[in-house]
Amino acid sequence: MTAPDTILQAQGLTKEFLGFLAVKDVNLSVKRGSIHALIGPNGAGKTTVFNLLTKFLTPSSGTIRFDGVDVTREQPAAVARRGLVRSFQISATFPHLTVLENIRVALQRRAGLATQFWRSDKVLRQLDARARELIADFKLDIYTDTPAVDLSYGRKRALEIATTLALDPTMLLLDEPMAGMGHEDIDRVVELIRKAAVGRTILMVEHNLSVVSNLCDTITVLQRGEIIAEGDYATVSENPRVREAYMGM
Ligand code: ADP
Repeated sequence: MTAPDTILQAQGLTKEFLGFLAVKDVNLSVKRGSIHALIGPNGAGKTTVFNLLTKFLTPSSGTIRFDGVDVTREQPAAVARRGLVRSFQISATFPHLTVLENIRVALQRRAGLATQFWRSDKVLRQLDARARELIADFKLDIYTDTPAVDLSYGRKRALEIATTLALDPTMLLLDEPMAGMGHEDIDRVVELIRKAAVGRTILMVEHNLSVVSNLCDTITVLQRGEIIAEGDYATVSENPRVREAYMGM
């Protein structure tokens, strides 16, 4: 049985690549409404776990339940429709569309308005109003008509999170949202993630431990495909196995 406050539960999650166990018997519970981090040294299995949870990979064994439903055998699109949405490490926005157009496309997808037939001026006006709200929330107003390709790195990530939020996910998986960012962009994206977390659950892979300590309620540490520690930052950072894995943490 899944506890009612658990939104995502993986049990016995295992992935084997040609005899190599990349993920070994992982039991992961993510609490509804939390910001949960998955950390670990390179090669620990973090990306593989994300791919398993979003069904881009099929587990060799184990089960995944999301929001009370067994999704172990479901396709990625079906899991996304249930509200478990991943923001890609490599930007999934359309580089030559403007900020507004990118968000509008995501909102149209969400509303199932991919075909011309469904479009009406009223619906499009509503989508535009929502797109502008998201743009304002993410402080991208002055870039509304700027092509995504011309944005700074940090603002591209902000746009990427905004487009993901346009899909109105129940749970958001963020792949190294701070990768390659300077201090100022990091501070801004931390605030955006806090905003995105209101009424949602977030699971993130993040290497920046000061971001993790500042943002995340629960931290799961993976090493060589296995969970070696779990808890709040103070608990995991005092764990000898974690200190050893991070050498000098
Ligand atoms: P992390 O994201 O923590 O750096 P990964 O999940 O990318 O770790 O990788 C975990 C281990 O699984 C690594 O040793 C990696 O080489 C291996 N691995 C990942 N994907 C594949 C694959 N498609 N085929 C074979 N081995 C893989």
